[in-house]
This record gives sequence, structure tokens and C-alpha cells, in this order.
Amino acid sequence: MKYDVVVIGSGPGGYVAAIRCAQLGMKTAIVEKYNTLGGTCLNVGCIPSKALLDSSEHYHAAGHKFEKHGIELKDLKVNFPQMLKRKDEVVTQMTKGVDFLMKKNKIDVHVGVGSFIDKNTILVSGEKEEKIEAVNVIIATGSKPSSLPGMEIDKDRIISSTEALKLPEIPKSLVVIGGGVIGLELGSVYARLGTKVSVVEYMDSIIPTMDRGLGKELTRVLKKLGFKFHLSHKVTSVENKGKSVTVKAEGKKGEIELDADYCLVAVGRRPYTDGLNLEAAGLKTDERGRIDVNDHLQTSVPNIYAIGDVIRGAMLAHKAEEEGVLVAETLAGQKPHIDYNLIPGVVYTWPEVASVGQTEEQLKADKIAYKTGQFAFRINGRAVAGMDLDGFVKILSDEETDEVLGVHIIGPRAADLIAEAVVAMEFRASAEDIARMSHAHPTTSEVTKEAALAATGNRALHM
Ligand code: FAD
Ligand code: NAD
Repeated sequence: MKYDVVVIGSGPGGYVAAIRCAQLGMKTAIVEKYNTLGGTCLNVGCIPSKALLDSSEHYHAAGHKFEKHGIELKDLKVNFPQMLKRKDEVVTQMTKGVDFLMKKNKIDVHVGVGSFIDKNTILVSGEKEEKIEAVNVIIATGSKPSSLPGMEIDKDRIISSTEALKLPEIPKSLVVIGGGVIGLELGSVYARLGTKVSVVEYMDSIIPTMDRGLGKELTRVLKKLGFKFHLSHKVTSVENKGKSVTVKAEGKKGEIELDADYCLVAVGRRPYTDGLNLEAAGLKTDERGRIDVNDHLQTSVPNIYAIGDVIRGAMLAHKAEEEGVLVAETLAGQKPHIDYNLIPGVVYTWPEVASVGQTEEQLKADKIAYKTGQFAFRINGRAVAGMDLDGFVKILSDEETDEVLGVHIIGPRAADLIAEAVVAMEFRASAEDIARMSHAHPTTSEVTKEAALAATGNRALHM
């Protein structure tokens, strides 16, 4: 059978690309090496981590907020196996949903490792071997956890996010290497469940690539949760001692040594192309292991495209999805476009952190004159009612035109609040536009309105 399109990899990039190709009338197949579809995101990433974040946040609220709300609980305790079971059920529900979508869109699913025989032929090595032919191929093979040079993730005491989502018990202590998204999200899960969490971060701030104000506020909040931070520290060794680990790191004031039950290595992810046999298709990877693509996400071999974590750019599920749609529509002769500046980034701690557009640091580096409007959640009625007092919304707008250039939020459900900023920036709104829109009262979205009022003319109403 010759397909119009064969997609290799069924993560959010791959399965969305396949659906859009099928919608546009192309005979489509997807190749996935695992038995469940959905890739990193659904199986060992976005979805299971959010399930555990929600469960642990409920537990933490029950222990720390309920009494103040006038709700008394006796003998509050965690049933960790049940927490993990619910997480697995959520994952199964979501991956089954992708099975359904493949059937509904008449996409053939081939289970096995896909590798190139030539630029139009894929060998699928699963329970049996089969060759499938394709006019066009989309590589969506994603990424795997990175490790540190000379340090092995042994999956026993020295673990990646995958193992951290299914530990046999709640650790008493956990050292996290890397104060980025994974380290802080999974660190939060365990800190809420009572684990002593220490973070060793190479840079002088956590979430260092986001607007610096966010990292500062998140550090303050996570310290209240019990996190210990060792910033500007370079890890020099990690040793599995059987029932514990020892992490050594070098800082400006000398070496520190941390002992813990587990060490979570969360220093980024690397593009994954193992087993693809790219050379047979005439492709190679760049110095960082990524597949090189042009603006149409086309590789140097014209009938082969690549999307998601395996190419340049943010390693985010929604970025991979947009790219899947872009390739499908390009193949159908359309002229789609992605504005990468408007892809939001979110950290699902509590409070959540969410950003879109330019940071203050980027605007300064690019010598763009800007105005800042910032408003705190502690002044907002809904936030006070819900006892969510930490955080703020910061809006950066062009000094001259007032166009919104960046929105940076740390606060309750910031992940949802950022959508308004994305819409505004998509339509090139000014801070004044947001300030004049009616925002329902009482909602935390009023903090965005107030920050816009502050940015457009220093005229926040409740400050
Ligand atoms: P992947 O999801 O990695 O999928 C690639 C698929 O290709 C896999 O199923 C793999 O088995 C398959 N594959 C690889 N090689 C072959 C081959 N040769 N043959 C057949 N199949 C192959 N992003 C967010 O936006 N929001 C979040 O909240 C979020 N949380 C995360 C939490 C964690 C713990 C982790 C690890 C990641 C998280 N991410 C999150 C990142 C997100 O998971 C990735 O950006 C996203 O999954 C990338 O999608 P993808 O389609 O490019 O690749
Ligand atoms: P990351 O890039 O977010 O963070 C890695 C951190 O490790 C950085 O702060 C970096 O400075 C630090 N670091 C690097 N080397 C170090 C060293 N030797 N010692 C100490 N610190 C070191 O990477 P991650 O947290 O591993 O996440 C991987 C990818 O998965 C990210 O690209 C992210 O976009 C994606 N992800 C997204 C979400 C989300 O959207 N909510 C959640 C989880 C993962």
C-alpha cells in the first residue's frame, strides 16, 4: 500500500499531523514503536504530571487551607498507590482517545520502530516486519531525557521524569538537578506530599529563560513549600549508594554535598532519532542532534518533513501540534504560518507561571523602549476569596505604540489566564485595548485588566 503521508511518532506532533492530513483527504498512516499512542506527552509527560500535580495540590490544600475555610478533617493521609492508579487511569483514557481519533479519521496505525529504507520506504519492525511506501514522510519522533556528561540515569536512585511519575514510595528526600519546568513541577508534587526537596541549578535563577521577575516570585513561593535552592551550582558527581544518592556540586563558596533517597535529573531533553536510519533517506542531524528544517518544516530531502521536539524551538506539546497542522496544510497546498513568538509557556506549579511574547530581558537586549504595568493577585477579590495571594500579572507594552509585547503571569490558574494575552497579541492589541475590555467580576482575569491599565497610563483602579 502506498500512502500519501506516513507519520513516524504518535506524540502530539505526530498524531495531530496525521489527523489534519486525513481531514485534508490524504491517505495517512502513523508508525509508533510503543503499544500506546500519544507519545511522551500523554504517556510520561504533560498528562501524568498534571494528574499528580492536581492530586498533590488537593492533598496540600486539605492539610493547609481547609481549616481556615472552616472545614475540619481528621486523619488526613496520602494513599500513594491510589494516586498513581488514578494517574494511570487518566493516561489510559487519553491514549484511548487517540486510538479513537485514528479510527475515526481512517488513519492506519503500524506498531513498531520505523526506520528509513530510502526516502519513500519505511521499514516497520514490530511483532512482524513490514515495508510501507509513502509519497511524503513526517518525522515526529520527539525527545528523551538528557543526562549530564559522565553521569548515568540508572532509573533506580538516579532517575528521570519517567521514573519520578511512578516511584515505589513517597521519598523522604529528593535532590533535583535543574530548576527548570520538570524539576519544579515534579519537585512540587513531592514537596506537597512531604518530601524534602533540594534543587541544584546551574544558573543564578530558577526558570532562567522566563522573565526574571517570575523566577524571583516562584522562588519565594516554593521556599514556603519547603524547597531548598542551590543556585549557581554546577553538579560534579551523582552516586547511587544503594538506598540513597549523594550529589556533589560546586558553587562560588565551594563544594556542597547533598544526600537524598532519590536524585531527579531534569536538565533538559534531547531530540530523539535513534533507530530511524536517517542516512538511508539522505538526512543527518545537526550538532545538537536535531533534524534541520526550513520555514515550511521541510528537511533537506523535499518529501520529508519534521516537527515537534525533534527540531529546533521550544519542546512543548502545543508547539508540536501547531507544526503538525502546518505541515499537513502545506502538503495540501495551503500557506499556513506559525508565529513562534506567540506560543505560550507554562509551568504548572502552584501558583502557575505563564508567559507569552518578549521578556523584559529580551526587550532590553534588543533596545526596544517599553512600558511596564504590574498588578498583584493579593489585591484581587476572587484571589482573596480563594486564599491565592501570591503572584502578579506583568504586561510589557511598546513605549510609543502601546502594543502589547509580552505578558508574564504568576498566579492562580495562570495557565488559563494567559490565553487572553495570546488572543490580544495575535490581534496586535495595545495595553489600552485590554484595559478597556470588560472583565467579569470577581475573577482573577481582572488582574490582567489592572496590569493593562497600569501599563497604558499608570491608571490601575484598585491600587
Ligand atoms: P513525543 O511526544 O516525544 O512523541 C514521539 C513519539 O515518537 C513517541 O511516542 C516515540 O515512542 C515515537 N518514536 C520515536 N522514534 C520512533 C521510531 N523510530 N519509530 C516509531 N515511533 C517512534 N509540554 C507541554 O506543552 N505542556 C506540559 O505540561 C508538558 N509537560 C511535560 C511533562 C514532562 C514530565 C515531560 C517529560 C514533558 C512535558 N512536556 C509538556 C513536553 C511535551 O511532552 C513534548 O514537547 C511533546 O510530547 C513533544 O511532542 P512530539 O510529538 O514532538 O514528540
Ligand atoms: P528545562 O530546560 O526547562 O530546565 C533545565 C534546567 O536545568 C535549566 O534551568 C538549566 O539551567 C538547568 N541545568 C542544565 N544543566 C545543569 C547542570 N549541569 N546542573 C544544574 N542545572 C543544570 O528542561 P526540563 O525541565 O528538563 O524540561 C525538558 C523539556 O520538557 C523542556 O524543554 C520543557 O519545555 C518541556 N516540559 C514542559 C513542561 C510544561 O510545558 N509545563 C513541563 C515539563 C517539561
